[in-house]
Amino acid sequence: ATSVVLFTRDLRLRDNSPLRAAQDTADAVVPLFVQDDAICAAGYAVPNRRAFLADCLADLDRQLRERGARLIVRTGDVVEQVCRVAHEADAHEVHMSADVSAYADRREKKLSSALAAAGRRLRVHDRMVTAVAPGEITPAGKDHMAVFTPYFRRWEKARQRPSHGAPARITAAKGVATEKLPSRRRIEGVSPGVPAGGETAGRKQFAGWRQKGMDAYADHHDDLAGDCTSRLSPHLHFGTLSPVELVARARERGGTGAEAFVRQLAWRDFHHQVLAARPQAARVDYRTHGDRWRSAREARDQIEAWKQGRTGYPVIDAAMRQLRHEGWMHNRGRLLAAGFLTKTLYVDWRIGARHFLDLLVDGDMANNQMNWQWVAGTGTDTRPNRILNPLVQAKKYDPAGDYVRRWVPELAAIEGRAVHEPWKLRGPHGKNHAAPDYPEPIVDLAAASERFRRARGK
Ligand code: FAD
Repeated sequence: ATSVVLFTRDLRLRDNSPLRAAQDTADAVVPLFVQDDAICAAGYAVPNRRAFLADCLADLDRQLRERGARLIVRTGDVVEQVCRVAHEADAHEVHMSADVSAYADRREKKLSSALAAAGRRLRVHDRMVTAVAPGEITPAGKDHMAVFTPYFRRWEKARQRPSHGAPARITAAKGVATEKLPSRRRIEGVSPGVPAGGETAGRKQFAGWRQKGMDAYADHHDDLAGDCTSRLSPHLHFGTLSPVELVARARERGGTGAEAFVRQLAWRDFHHQVLAARPQAARVDYRTHGDRWRSAREARDQIEAWKQGRTGYPVIDAAMRQLRHEGWMHNRGRLLAAGFLTKTLYVDWRIGARHFLDLLVDGDMANNQMNWQWVAGTGTDTRPNRILNPLVQAKKYDPAGDYVRRWVPELAAIEGRAVHEPWKLRGPHGKNHAAPDYPEPIVDLAAASERFRRARGK
């Protein structure tokens, strides 16, 4: 018998439950990836993620070839394409990983019934997109945990799923045609700093960071200029690395750095279990405060200044320019940039979340939407009305101003922390000679905070 293994965002050979199950139960497998029309039509197949994905598929194909198989790639409607390949290979089963979004739920249901109509079976495997499966930790009578700290206490004690190596050989079904693999070189509009994708690149990065970076992580992960976080988020998004394995390997190493890193992975699981239980939270407020956010039209110029990194607040602009250049932003930068858009400019979080998804290589329904909601105070933050002051935060997390000078060249000549307040460096005629090309602040922080507090009735 033959089985199709549908890869989605588990683009790895290690810890791949669908692949393992197919190998155990069938004589031959068809490893398949579908470039899904629906994801393209919704505008989610943006250049930065397509570039990273192209690397992932090339690496997966190379690893499969080393084991006697190869990757079959098709483009089109995912349900149609899977059914077609299953028919061509005369496969009795299709294996895939469970995922957490509304779209993944719909895809699973449609695939299951289309395959059943042709006498085939869809087998959906444990949610290996997270270390602890969504739904595994739930309070009595509820379907998810709404507060991180109690979630984390239980997460730490939760059953750890075993981690499995890559299969040594894969028996591939013969005669199934494939399209050409996509190539990063042919994708236009990719940010210059988008890293290399693929399981091989991800493993190398993790091994290097575990050796040299993990121990300092607890103390320095918030240091904007130090840039010492793992940068594994794109690999976790595409599943080139397994969160189960990362937790196990970090715990093996031990120490406060490893513990802090594992805690961040638990945050990732936390947001995934919220979205799994409330798929609509990708679009709709998780908790509503009756916010009457300013719309895209009302705040057009300010939104544009935010996107371009020209708000006149250096730390915000540095973060937004890092996003455009690398397709990635430091977590502290994300917190500040998102807080600035929502609580300072009082713009709808969905507008910012969409812009992040347009550029982030790690752009992810669970992590992006739920973090935006958290920052906007419509999500799971237990202090939804807190406002992070960008100046106070800049002085704390970029004390020497190096992060700003790295990303905002107009300010590169200003030394030290003075770079965070270039408006204080005016000459006798009110002109800022230290940074003539840098904009004036587009908003007054105190007045903006007041507007937000009033809007929230505080
Ligand atoms: P590290 O600090 O090395 O952390 C290790 C891993 O833990 C990360 O790779 C990530 O998978 C996970 N993690 C860390 N922090 C968080 C967090 N706050 N929430 C969930 N998981 C976390 N992360 C994404 O992966 N995709 C997104 O689209 C995304 N959008 C965000 C939007 C906003 C407004 C905010 C505030 C945060 C967002 N994050 C997102 C979370 C976080 O900023 C990134 O995961 C992190 O910066 C990635 O860098 P790293 O891999 O070096 O992280």
